[in-house]
Amino acid sequence: MRIEFDRQTCIGMYQCVDEWAAFSEDMDAGKATLADAEEVEDDRFVRSVPEDAAFDAEMAARVCPVDAITLYDDDGDQLVP
Ligand code: SF4
Repeated sequence: MRIEFDRQTCIGMYQCVDEWAAFSEDMDAGKATLADAEEVEDDRFVRSVPEDAAFDAEMAARVCPVDAITLYDDDGDQLVP
């Protein structure tokens, strides 16, 4: 599973932080931060999701009010949102 985080779209509501520990609050920027992620484009971050974190990552993607978090399965198909 792969997760993509569009930090430009993020509006810093921080619901994702409550769902998966990989997300944390960056109060100065008013945006979430995704740990261990690679910035593949400006403000677009990608990382793999360990199997034991799949549920938490999915919840993080589901609760984001602006769909800044996208999940893909190993075949590259979009799972959430
Ligand atoms: S839930 Fe969405 S808008 Fe809120 S901090 Fe996380 S990524 Fe940003």
